[in-house]
Amino acid sequence: MLDRPTTKDQWIARARATTPDGRAFINGAYVNAKSGKTFDKISSADGSVAGQVADCDAADIDLAVSAAKTAFEDGRWRDKPATEKKRVLLRFAELIKQHTDEIAIRETLDVGKVISNSISIDVPYCYVCLQYYAELADKMYDEIAPMSPNDLVQIRKEPLGVIGAIVPWNYPLIISAWKLGPALLAGNSVVLKPAEQSPFASLYLGGLAREAGIPDGVLNIVPGFGEKTGKPLALHMDVDMVTFTGSTEVGKLMMRYAADSNIKRVALELGGKSAQIVMPDADLDAAAEAIAWSIYYNQGQTCHAGSRVLAHRSIRKQLIEKIIKVTAAQIPQGHSFDPAAQMGAMVEQKHMERVLEYIAVGQKEGASLALGGKQIMQNTGGFYVEPTIFDEVKPDMRIAQEEIFGPVLAVIPFDTEEEAVRIANGTVFGLGGSVWTSDMNVAHRVSGAIRAGTVWVNCYDKSSPVTPFGGFKQSGFGRDRSPHAVDKYMDYKTIWTVYK
Ligand code: NAD
Repeated sequence: MLDRPTTKDQWIARARATTPDGRAFINGAYVNAKSGKTFDKISSADGSVAGQVADCDAADIDLAVSAAKTAFEDGRWRDKPATEKKRVLLRFAELIKQHTDEIAIRETLDVGKVISNSISIDVPYCYVCLQYYAELADKMYDEIAPMSPNDLVQIRKEPLGVIGAIVPWNYPLIISAWKLGPALLAGNSVVLKPAEQSPFASLYLGGLAREAGIPDGVLNIVPGFGEKTGKPLALHMDVDMVTFTGSTEVGKLMMRYAADSNIKRVALELGGKSAQIVMPDADLDAAAEAIAWSIYYNQGQTCHAGSRVLAHRSIRKQLIEKIIKVTAAQIPQGHSFDPAAQMGAMVEQKHMERVLEYIAVGQKEGASLALGGKQIMQNTGGFYVEPTIFDEVKPDMRIAQEEIFGPVLAVIPFDTEEEAVRIANGTVFGLGGSVWTSDMNVAHRVSGAIRAGTVWVNCYDKSSPVTPFGGFKQSGFGRDRSPHAVDKYMDYKTIWTVYK
């Protein structure tokens, strides 16, 4: 194993020497797209070509689904004893841990997130999640219904079959693990479709899964574009469920595809516009620190980024000053492969332009720019946007309603608790939220009133595989993480036996 680089130049040299495999992983082997076509994956960090990716389409999806179906039907994974599934999944997690640096380089090339985060957050959260589900494998029981002594009524949970897992580009490893862990533990086969912007880290998992002992055909990974690869997967008649994380717009399409094909089940983790309510009695230092990290971590490309701050009018100015100070002191922006940087590049030029457009919209709408607002570090060739804050934002402005998915914080003043809750709930989303106060009665009332899948009190973005994660309203339905996530990859079967 190579020594871990310690400087930016060493990391850049290591990344340049890396040739990520962009071929599809189907039936236990890396293969080219049937058409032979590829597309360039552009490195977010510097705009160079990071590698070639198989430009897969319906023909490749057919192959992957067919391999997954055969593997499911012959029971090569489904019928393995629970302890064996546990052993293999633990080995898979261990191999990911052992290959941390190779995978982290791919994650940073894919997304532009800083290398220190890829190493200390994305890769570990991926293997820890797989470990969690591996450990659960031999701890789940079926049920016997209460009947008369001669009636044995088993309520069994059975895997669904072939799962299509379609994931976004912002956390390719973590979100893939959220889906693979429970789906594989339940005994299903999976066809994973990474986002076109971020294929390399996910594809690397295929070879490690094979080495760990996951049988051929049980995990397939097919890269490509949404319309060309994701759509045929979601429309496929032999796919029993689609578990999707991505935008609300494409999430709606998933429901249509299910209706237009085989009424496959659908689980949706979608966008967000999460509100952080800061009451006048809050610990402002703690709130400012958490708010800064919640919006600038991963350049704001986080579904539950705390992108709206609802600040009581009496402390708003003070809070903004503190957020600016924390950002300068704790979140230095730099080249994605600079180990000292905590904020890196946006995923791609198109997305960076979309974020800059929103910043222009905010200015046109009359919000006041309190920090940042520009593209920087153009000399790198990468896609870097400054941490940005808008003050005096009105709840109905576009920058307060729409998901920007970038390092742009909207600060909205309020005067009363009721008003704060109304504004917090006043978008189509319901993914996350928080309340900052030293009065636990207020915390209790407000956390209950916010319509969101997770509400943090005096903290933000605490995260663990142990807790369910997902949204209310147009942030989707179904939950990733925790034992509850396994339920959606299984269904109940009743077997009623009468004894004489
Ligand atoms: P996206 O919806 O554009 O794409 C997500 C995935 O769907 C990609 O793999 C893409 O190739 C595929 N896709 C796109 N069009 C498709 C189509 N017509 N048919 C089938 N598949 C298609 O989202 P994105 O830009 O990759 O990710 C950002 C979005 O993801 C944001 O809205 C963010 O909030 C959301 N997200 C949600 C969560 C959550 O847990 N709720 C987590 C992370 C990201």
